[in-house]
Amino acid sequence: MGPGSDWNSVDGEGSRSFWTSMEKTLIILKPDAVKNKHIGHIVTRIEEEGFKILGMKLLQLSKSDAQKFYEVHKERPFYDDLCNYMISGPVVVAALEAPAAVQKWRDLIGATDPKEAAANTIRALYAESKEANAVHGSDSAENAQNEVAFFFKDGELIG
Ligand code: UDP
Ligand code: MG
Repeated sequence: MGPGSDWNSVDGEGSRSFWTSMEKTLIILKPDAVKNKHIGHIVTRIEEEGFKILGMKLLQLSKSDAQKFYEVHKERPFYDDLCNYMISGPVVVAALEAPAAVQKWRDLIGATDPKEAAANTIRALYAESKEANAVHGSDSAENAQNEVAFFFKDGELIG
């Protein structure tokens, strides 16, 4: 095993390997991205950046879906507006896989507020505002597991 040969391989349990672990993350193309016809641009970027798409679907979220998905933010002042925004039109949800996928996607999308997002990040390119900021990304491997399970049944992901 050496660089180039097995860089993307999944670390075995208890492995002393320093190779980056394969990981899943849950992403959402939010209503503004869908409405503004950015699905194609963003999916192209996903493919160019080397993520594997394990599952992808277009959905109209219900209010209770949005409330459950963003439950961690329920005490925040923006929670109600955020939930209403997330049901304002269809979204695309996808499970992606890559080495260190959670951080890789967060780096690619940029800061929550597109005004603060680095040049060429997805939010800098496509977001409308801090709320309508084009995309979601899980913020930890543990949350990613829960968020993938929120949208995809066992057996629905194609690995
Ligand atoms: N959000 C908002 N106002 C804020 C902060 C967040 O409307 O002041 C929305 C925005 O759509 C964001 C989502 O709430 O993406 C979740 O917030 P979080 O802090 O988790 O940001 P993210 O992880 O999406 O960058
Ligand atoms: Mg977040």
